[in-house]
Amino acid sequence: MEIYGKKRALAALGRFAQSGRFPHALLLTGDSGIGKRVLADYTAMMYMCTGEGRKPCMRCNECRRTEQHIHPDVVYPLSVMEKGKYNADDLRSFIAGCYIKPNDGDIRVCVFEALDSMSVICQNTLLKFIEEPLDFNRYIFTADRKEPVLQTVLSRVTAVTVDACDEKDFAAALSGHGIDRSRAAELFARFGGNIGTALKFEENGDDMQYYHAAVKACDALADKKELDCLLAVSSLKTREEVFAALGILTDIFAQAAAYKSGKGTAEKYMDRTKRIASAYSLAAITRMYDEALRLYGMSFTNPNVKLFAAECCGALFDAAESANRR
Ligand SMILES: [Zn+2]
Repeated sequence: MEIYGKKRALAALGRFAQSGRFPHALLLTGDSGIGKRVLADYTAMMYMCTGEGRKPCMRCNECRRTEQHIHPDVVYPLSVMEKGKYNADDLRSFIAGCYIKPNDGDIRVCVFEALDSMSVICQNTLLKFIEEPLDFNRYIFTADRKEPVLQTVLSRVTAVTVDACDEKDFAAALSGHGIDRSRAAELFARFGGNIGTALKFEENGDDMQYYHAAVKACDALADKKELDCLLAVSSLKTREEVFAALGILTDIFAQAAAYKSGKGTAEKYMDRTKRIASAYSLAAITRMYDEALRLYGMSFTNPNVKLFAAECCGALFDAAESANRR
């Protein structure tokens, strides 16, 4: 297992391990594609490792089985949900299984991915489970963003932020996938140090409909052409795509606000960040960011994808204009 960047998160995990008080419930947060799953596996190894010295040793039987995803006591509930989405029934039966002692050892690690995609009902079901933790269960959660997660859940987990890596680590990671330095530099300008998104883009750029839609929607916002924005989002067919596109837009607005106020360098989504920053006031960008974040949190509650995508366009343009009118 190779881990690139993530120095701050690794340092935090290292401190927990050294203090002898490793939290029972950890939440790893960071953008989609940033490597939360890899870090979750690594953290699961820290819980399971039975090797000598520093943990995870990466060599013992527990570490190896965890890395290969064949450890019976490291479980990924999202993978057993119907259609790969959380639903209350499947979640309850998963949880019921966790009241039974682990198969092989003293510990079971439950890796709940995409906590921010869970409905409020599911989060409340989960809450009852983590409120009264059993001695043998440990929990690792991942989420792109904390906002859709209930405060009551957040208050019971220790959050660790996973950062994008710097350009050097980014290039090193990509070279392992046969991508040369100059291409890596181009990708870094586009995606910042987000290795997962860059690799996905390289592998199937044309299939990343949500990325293209988000970028076109962003250009339409910068040009103040609402119809172009509607056209861009009309290509989105699933909630997951809308969710991912809103995630990118949120990110661009956050970067643009930082850039505009002189606190950021626009290293991610560079062209778009600069375009939004020059087209709008800081107040307008902040409103757009708040609005995108609100819509992002609603992505999974809205039944009609097409209508919701159109509503997102309207809401973002309204947010931008209302700030400009002030
Ligand atoms: Zn080990």
